[in-house]
Amino acid sequence: MRQSAAERYADLRDAALVRDRPLFPAQRTPTELELQARWFAGDFGKQFQSTAGDEIEIVQFGTWNREAGPDFTDSAVRINGGEPVRGSIEFDLSDRSWEAHGHASNPAFDDAVLHVFVNAGAQQFFTRTSAHRNVPQVRVDPAALADAFVAGVPLAHAGRCQAPLSGLPEERVNGILDAAAQFRLRRKAARLQRIATDRGRDEALFQELAAALGYKQNKLPFTLLAQRLPLRTLRERADDAEALLFGTAGFLDAGDLAKYEQQARGYVRTLWDRWWPHRDAMQRLILPHKLWNFGGARPLNHPQRRLAALAVIARQWPAFSRSLEGNDASAIQHFFTELHHPFWDFHYTLIAERSATGMALVGETRITEILANVVFPWWSAGSTDHTGEYGKLRARLTNRRVETAATRLFGNDERRSTFMKTVAHQQGLLQIYEDFCMQDSSDCSRCPFPEQMQKWL
Ligand code: SF4
Repeated sequence: MRQSAAERYADLRDAALVRDRPLFPAQRTPTELELQARWFAGDFGKQFQSTAGDEIEIVQFGTWNREAGPDFTDSAVRINGGEPVRGSIEFDLSDRSWEAHGHASNPAFDDAVLHVFVNAGAQQFFTRTSAHRNVPQVRVDPAALADAFVAGVPLAHAGRCQAPLSGLPEERVNGILDAAAQFRLRRKAARLQRIATDRGRDEALFQELAAALGYKQNKLPFTLLAQRLPLRTLRERADDAEALLFGTAGFLDAGDLAKYEQQARGYVRTLWDRWWPHRDAMQRLILPHKLWNFGGARPLNHPQRRLAALAVIARQWPAFSRSLEGNDASAIQHFFTELHHPFWDFHYTLIAERSATGMALVGETRITEILANVVFPWWSAGSTDHTGEYGKLRARLTNRRVETAATRLFGNDERRSTFMKTVAHQQGLLQIYEDFCMQDSSDCSRCPFPEQMQKWL
């Protein structure tokens, strides 16, 4: 059977992985919170072998725990195919953390059914509860994640593939970019489907929408917020949803209302009043301030504006859901363009002065990103073929990663802007950048992409 373009790109990528890639590309050390978010999203998978050799299946990942005790509560695991065992799951960077943090003598950890960790000490360590019950252990490897935590950021200079690429006909380069874009789309679709299998369609879409609203800089806090305040919770507590999001984000510190501009005071006061009754119960889940990245983004894209957009999306979820059913990108664009908020249509941040002119809650560029990262992947997982429509979606702007990738692959090739006109080509470029440039530690000399590409027909 004839291979699809995405399958051919996957082959090219896998061949490079086996033959030419350094065994241990430099990894950055992810934080515990980052890994916990990935665990909860199911990125590490659901089937594991415990350190004792037992088959462990995650039946339910549970929920982020608000109380004292393990990180995740209401979880369920199946051991060696038996009946699901319900309880809590603790995720640590080190196996020793269980002892070091006093969990072994803390009754709040007595219902733990699994201890997950990244690093194991030289000597075997057994996870035990205060009643001396042995808790199964699973070790996970962050390097095995599809988009592992690579340390280096490739320099924005023309790479070794610029010369061969500049000699290839335009259709051939477009063919490679299309194939990489299709591969990326499929991978996003598979991830969405996996989360949907665990948590349902709406929660999966909501979590990925939140991540898209977070941009690259704030993807983690937005993902954590959507995991800790799932759509169902926000819809059940519709009147408090916006306050819950702002409070859990850590944006509602107790403070002096005087620091807010006159018009903002009423809005902030409402948020506070709705947040206070929940604050004690949510204390453990409030995000640390250092998780947020406020630098570098355009004022329109301030995380507080994005969070307000998420609250409005949750409120209007049935309309979003309906617009998704039509399989029509313009209906999605219409939904997002029509989102409004009486405060955030005129403010950049909670403390900013009111702007004289209104501003879109979700702008055109972000809508395009949402289409590329959430909507088209979701549709592509279904039965209708959207390849043509996806391929035609015009890119609004580029970003630093896309520009760096283009510089490395195309240098000053005069066709560079032509290759970056569509969202699909930009996504394909990013895929190649992540698969090859970010994995390369030889300043291009041992990267197999230029030779592989020459063989692409
Ligand atoms: S690392 Fe590979 S793909 Fe990236 S610019 Fe260099 S040769 Fe090209």
